[in-house]
Amino acid sequence: MGIYQTEAGRVAIVTGGGSGIGRASAIAFAKEGMKVCVMDVKEERSEEVAEEIRNSGGEAMSSGVDVSNPQEVQQGIEQTIQKWGRLDVLFANAGINGTLAPIEKLSLEQWNATISTNLNGTFLTVKHSIPYLKKEGGSIVITSSINGNRTFHGFGMAAYSSTKAAQVAFMKMAALELARYKIRVNAICPGAIQTNIGQNTHTTEEVKEITIPVNYPEGHQPLEHKPGEPEQVADLVLFLASERSSHISGTEIYIDGAETLL
Ligand code: NAD
Repeated sequence: MGIYQTEAGRVAIVTGGGSGIGRASAIAFAKEGMKVCVMDVKEERSEEVAEEIRNSGGEAMSSGVDVSNPQEVQQGIEQTIQKWGRLDVLFANAGINGTLAPIEKLSLEQWNATISTNLNGTFLTVKHSIPYLKKEGGSIVITSSINGNRTFHGFGMAAYSSTKAAQVAFMKMAALELARYKIRVNAICPGAIQTNIGQNTHTTEEVKEITIPVNYPEGHQPLEHKPGEPEQVADLVLFLASERSSHISGTEIYIDGAETLL
């Protein structure tokens, strides 16, 4: 047990929990004694993470959920409630980079695919968690990004950046609306983090046509000169999920090793 002993016994849902930031956060939650439902569209991934947690003495279940599908989201949350009877923390983290293309070449289907997972997925998981979170209060953490908030040179990422900016606006609306239920809502904005997100990135050749070169002499991660690790992000997520951040709501926090200040 670590410094967050008050978290023991609390129940958390982590979307996109099968990989990267979600996986590291699910493991961090479980280490503090929280019960974790690992949700991922790739069910085998979420089961692997849940098994890893159980093998280390933690409590976890897995659920194959596409966050853009309202029925699946509702069912996944209900399964969690059936198993543990409560919900205290939602980490709305599932996301894809989607198709990277110039706006004039991006199809509506490609645009919608990114919006559905990143933005609709955030809305749906928050919406369907509220009835349970409001019983005793809780914490919602949403994974946004530096893209769409502090940086706009992710060429071809118009859809992605739009979802990441919208998530921050949504987080602030939700923080005000849900404060009456003692539900805190915050967002994290990571810079480059070493994960598997490349598997959900489809870069088209045409992106080259709109790219403006941005070259810094010493690279672009001033603090560590390399991308962050998912475990470093998980430390922030754990803090925001826990009672140690009891007066923080409606805030986006950058976790990028000062990358976006250049
Ligand atoms: P990742 O690909 O390693 O993990 C994301 C997980 O989400 C995967 O297991 C994937 O299967 C799952 N997923 C994808 N679509 C889903 C859906 N529709 N329903 C349920 N699960 C789905 O990537 P990651 O980097 O850990 O990404 C997590 C979040 O962090 C995303 O929201 C991403 O936009 C954000 N982010 C990542 C970085 C980075 O550099 N890696 C930077 C800023 C923000």
